[in-house]
Amino acid sequence: MSQARTVRERLEDVRERMAKAAESVGRRPEEVLLIAVTKTVALERIVEAYQAGQRVFGESRVQEAAPKVAGLPADIEWHFIGKLQSNKVRKAAGLFQVIHTLESPSQLKEFDKLPAPVDALIEVNLAHETQKSGVPPESLDEFWELASQCKGVRVRGLMTIGPNLRDPEAMRPFFRELRLLGERFGCEWLSMGMSADFDVAIQEGATHVRVGSALFGERPG
Ligand SMILES: *Cc1c(COP(=O)(O)O)cnc(C)c1O
Repeated sequence: MSQARTVRERLEDVRERMAKAAESVGRRPEEVLLIAVTKTVALERIVEAYQAGQRVFGESRVQEAAPKVAGLPADIEWHFIGKLQSNKVRKAAGLFQVIHTLESPSQLKEFDKLPAPVDALIEVNLAHETQKSGVPPESLDEFWELASQCKGVRVRGLMTIGPNLRDPEAMRPFFRELRLLGERFGCEWLSMGMSADFDVAIQEGATHVRVGSALFGERPG
């Protein structure tokens, strides 16, 4: 039954959930940016979201994003949220306004070669999951320093994916930890929260939520 809902309706629901979460902790809904995650989503469905007023989209593969960026209106703001190979930095910087997944000195070397800096967030691996990317919290001081010296990025904040837990409440300590790290570094932006848990992330201070399946339905595979 939920499959029959249009992207516009889903967008309204997500925006309502976001506003409720913000208001529940005395934040203004405008403080939180919704990034509509369009990986594996076909162009026509992205257009539906665009026509419903959405202007900020996220992709996790440079290759997949290129034709979408080229085929959609220029007033869209594109955010890169996937693993960024160093050899894709230049291409990514040409397609995306914000990179959420800074994590390695070799990426920074490539950013340094760019003519102009790109807004970026440092990805933090809070749960110390070895299979996941991101900087472990104990290495963040060092990497923050390195990234701050890189002329190719403007470090605006922190991003985390977090462990894949069934219960959104179980994510709260991770989101809280990212906020505390953000405060320590004086971050403007915190990118945290996905379809299942963005309410909790907003309560804990998210400025950017990355929402895919709640807007476009479950992804295949
Ligand atoms: C796919 C993805 C999302 C969106 O996930 P949903 O659960 O579909 O909302 C958010 N962040 C990242 C990094 C992703 O890869």
